[in-house]
Formats: sequence, structure tokens, C-alpha cells
Amino acid sequence: MEVYMDGTFVPQEEAKVSVFDHGFLYGDGVFEGIRGYNGRIFRLNEHIDRLYDSAKTIDMKIPITKEEFSEIILETVRRNNLKNAYIRPIVTRGIGTMGLDPTHCPKPMVICIAIEWGAMYGDLYEKGLTAVTVAVRRNAPDALPPNVKSMNYLNNILAKIEANYKGGDEAIFLDAQGRISEGSGDNIFIVKNGIIHTPHTLTNLKGITRDVLIEIAESLGIQVKIVELGFFDLYTADEMIVTGTAAEVAPIVKVDGRIIGSGRPGPITKQIMAAFKTITEKEGTP
Ligand code: PLP
Repeated sequence: MEVYMDGTFVPQEEAKVSVFDHGFLYGDGVFEGIRGYNGRIFRLNEHIDRLYDSAKTIDMKIPITKEEFSEIILETVRRNNLKNAYIRPIVTRGIGTMGLDPTHCPKPMVICIAIEWGAMYGDLYEKGLTAVTVAVRRNAPDALPPNVKSMNYLNNILAKIEANYKGGDEAIFLDAQGRISEGSGDNIFIVKNGIIHTPHTLTNLKGITRDVLIEIAESLGIQVKIVELGFFDLYTADEMIVTGTAAEVAPIVKVDGRIIGSGRPGPITKQIMAAFKTITEKEGTP
């Protein structure tokens, strides 16, 4: 496998970052997760835009243009002969002196990794996943804005650890105010009386797959409401869905031990999953 690093492609074994890179020292950097389906890259421009927005928010200037970054992503997939890919562009603050000050890091480090990737949750797309709410909170928007896809994923990791201990396939975060926020790596939706509800993206990542789900729902004539959600809404939902680049569109059938709906993926969930599959088969940058 070849990895793009700082201007060149290198074999996987040589793809190493300095211990003085502030991405390593402080988690100072941003990234994206992108999917390739049948050799085409799904929603590439949206991911590139979010990467540059993440960088801008943390006051980091990516040293190449969006067009150049897009070409690097396409070339990484081509060189590794990937059909169904998971692609990870990363930009770290780069090598600097000890200490937090980013002005001591003259050049951000641009990296792109791409691997072959299948369905993250295997047969759970048919059976449905179990989820658990977790004690660790999604970081508050007045700290690091959750819309920055930064290299600080520790509270997401803590959420995942908690879900593992509690026997859940996915963790559901609350925000600082105790409202439902999102999964550890995906956005959350519930269906109630035929209407889809999802939290505002102030306290979670504005997922690109979330936008795709909203587009699909609109095209199917299903109403989507952006609302505040609490435990009550989760536990009494008719259907529940999580969306993410890695997770795609996945049904949740149990939360904190409560069975959701019939305990099987519901009709609206199945409709959206099918439409999502059709879109990923058709769309993408070649
Ligand atoms: N929320 C978090 C915390 C994530 O890491 C991700 C994954 O990127 C998502 C939501 C879903 O976003 P997207 O659909 O853009 O992959």
C-alpha cells in the first residue's frame, strides 16, 4: 500500500510521522473520512470543503489548494487499485518545537491514506444495532466546536469504551445540556409517527451522510424536523437510524435495553437504506 505524505507517495512501511509533529504531540490537526464506491469517490467536494473549514476554524492554512487535495485523494485510490475504499486525508500542524504555540510549526503535514473497506457493521444492517447512551459528553460548542473534525477524538474513544463495557454496538452522546447529540462516529435520527427527527448540528458533527439522509427523505416525501431530543424521545421512537461515512445508514433496534419499534429495522429505515445504496452505486467522482 502507498501513502501520500508531504508531496510524495511512500510505501506503507515508510509512512512515518515525526514525534515532534504537533499532530502527535497535541492532537493538533484535522482529518476527513471519505468513501469510495466502485472506484468513485462519494461526495468528494463536500468532504474537501469540510476539511478546509475544520482547518480554518483551528487557524491552520492547508498548504495546497482544494483541487490539488482532491487530485491527491483520487491518485491515492488509483495507486492502490481500490474499488471500495475508506480514505483518510489528514493535515497536522506539522513539526515544531515543544510547546503549544502553532506559530512554531512552519509547515502543516499533508497525508492521505486509503484502504479497501466493506460494510462496517456486517449482518447488523439487517438485524439492527444496539446502542447505549454514555456518561461522557460530546464536547460543548463553546470549547472545540464539534463541527471541526479534529485529531482530538478522545471523548469519542471514551464513549466507545463505555459502549463496549455496556455491550452496545454504538455509543450515543448527550451534549453538555443533556440533550441527545450523536453517536461516537455518526449522526442520529429517530422516526416518530412517520416523521424523521434529528438534533441540530451545534453540538455534533454536521455529517455529510446526515445531509444525504435528509435529501433522500425529502425526495421520498418524508418530513425531517430538526429538534431537541431527550431520553424520552429515544426510548419511545418508532425507528432509529445512525448515519456516517463508515457506518453508512444503519438501523438501531435497541437503546439502553429498550426495544425500538418492533425490534427490527423499520419501514422508513429500510426505504432510506435502499435509497442510500442506489445513490452510492450511481454517484461519485471517477
Ligand atoms: N459524528 C462524528 C463524531 C463523526 O466522527 C462522524 C464521521 O465522520 C460523523 C458524525 C458522521 O459524519 P459523516 O457522515 O460526514 O461521515
